[in-house]
Amino acid sequence: MKASWRSFIALLCVLIACIAWSPAVVALPAATAVDSDLALAAQISPLASNKTPEEIANNPAVKDAMGAAWADSSADNATTRHEEGGWIYEDADGNLTVQRWPAGNRSSIDPCPPAPPPGGQVVGEFHTHPNWHPPDGKDEAGKEWKKGPSDEDKGAKLPGTTGIVTDRSGNVTLY
Ligand SMILES: [Zn+2]
Repeated sequence: MKASWRSFIALLCVLIACIAWSPAVVALPAATAVDSDLALAAQISPLASNKTPEEIANNPAVKDAMGAAWADSSADNATTRHEEGGWIYEDADGNLTVQRWPAGNRSSIDPCPPAPPPGGQVVGEFHTHPNWHPPDGKDEAGKEWKKGPSDEDKGAKLPGTTGIVTDRSGNVTLY
């Protein structure tokens, strides 16, 4: 009798352990993925910026850099126009600086790895859309282009940062 009780309790313990462990084991990959996303976000934005997207876009250093990027995009040249852009950093004193990315292609651009100043963080990014033409977005060849940020732009933006797109109409679109 004692032995069968012991067996029953042992079996019960095994069952409880199985039930307790199954969801934990199943949930492990997802939990790990979330943790690494949070770790990445913390690495990119170690400080909470108190600047609004509008303050970032209107900062003189950022506006100057966006103007230079637009000029470098050769928007008026049908064969050489291309996207330009860069990272916007906030240093430990709250000053904004810009690091330009390598020149992009006709309708895409790849950011360089972010290198914020010591104690600083990425607070935004900007890039140009030189292909859109008024009034309907069609270029000289009749191809229609998008004016504001694409779905890819929105998906690629670092979490918690401000994205800025400038286009031929002089519009500055925040996303
Ligand atoms: Zn874009």
